[in-house]
Amino acid sequence: MGILVYVESTKGSLKKASREAVSYGAALDSEVTAIALGSGHNQDELGSLGANGATKVLIDNDATYDNGDSNQLASSLNKAAEQLGANTIIFGTSPATSAVAARLSVKMGSTLVTNISDLPDTSSGFALKRGIFTGKAFETVEVSSEKKVLVVKKNAVDLKEDGSEASVENVSLVEGGVSFEHLGQELTAGDILLPEAEIVVSAGRGLKGPENWGMVEELAQVLGAATACSKPVSDMDWRPHHEHVGQTGIKVSPQLYIAIGISGAIQHLAGVNSSKYIVVINKDPEAPFFKEADYGIVGDAFEVVPQLINALKAAG
Ligand SMILES: Cc1cc2nc3c(=O)[nH]c(=O)nc-3n(C[C@H](O)[C@H](O)[C@H](O)COP(=O)(O)OP(=O)(O)OC[C@H]3O[C@@H](n4cnc5c(N)ncnc54)[C@H](O)[C@@H]3O)c2cc1C
Repeated sequence: MGILVYVESTKGSLKKASREAVSYGAALDSEVTAIALGSGHNQDELGSLGANGATKVLIDNDATYDNGDSNQLASSLNKAAEQLGANTIIFGTSPATSAVAARLSVKMGSTLVTNISDLPDTSSGFALKRGIFTGKAFETVEVSSEKKVLVVKKNAVDLKEDGSEASVENVSLVEGGVSFEHLGQELTAGDILLPEAEIVVSAGRGLKGPENWGMVEELAQVLGAATACSKPVSDMDWRPHHEHVGQTGIKVSPQLYIAIGISGAIQHLAGVNSSKYIVVINKDPEAPFFKEADYGIVGDAFEVVPQLINALKAAG
């Protein structure tokens, strides 16, 4: 089949979505090449992609890529795919990958499938399940073309971790200039970026007012989580807009999403329903969120959350 997986780093560390994309590739073929482009990668860490299923890792650490020019990134990936004879290119979903995957697909003359939520059904072809209507529904598509660009949602596949190391090879693929320059980046929030967070503690209108967010922040701190909120909460300026999750906000796919005093409206669920585990704390046993929850606590958030914080602290 020939599989190439594009991997990204944040603050010098490989993204979990990229490791999952490598695991996805390894579930399709025993030969998987991962490729990293740009100077923001920790070269010593790249070999660890072997544990996730990569047989080889290519790195082109030319700083030209750091501008995030999707055309340049797609050109180099196309070149690498041609050199390797790779027909299937896999991306983990991230804010930066959609444009690169789309451009690459045009360059390769391939089929592009995004939002993939499961491994393909290969019993009679190559059928992929993907989320549509902002995750409210699924569709299955049959891909008949040999060349495929696949963008995989977080948590679509279990992370393979077997301790192996992959060989790392430096390559030079960059060509031509760039069409725009990246002048800087400023974080609007703390150290844990919401779209990347493994644990998210989120709260809604049930918290009554911004003065009550101390316990939400404390719970997030104890768990090493990012904080989030429902849309009305950010509309009322109780919390900043970059914390709003849902159909019109940020989409998150953490391992654990804790929803406190959030009713579970369909527009909210659209941004959180690919979380691995959902815990709901709500005083109304009829709250729709409980239907989506893996674990639910029916109770007053002002009693439950402080007890949870104390229990977590006691557990160390
Ligand atoms: C086009 C469109 C797009 C939208 N996009 C989004 C979006 O992206 N994200 C989003 O979140 N919403 C979105 N909405 C709004 C959405 O429909 C809901 O109105 C919103 O999610 C409700 O927010 P909430 O759950 O915080 O508040 P509420 O619906 O008011 O729910 C509050 C919950 O808190 C519980 N509660 C109250 N007191 C306590 C307590 N002491 N302890 C525990 N629980 C308590 C209540 O039982 C209730 O379930 C959108 C709406 C539209 C029309």
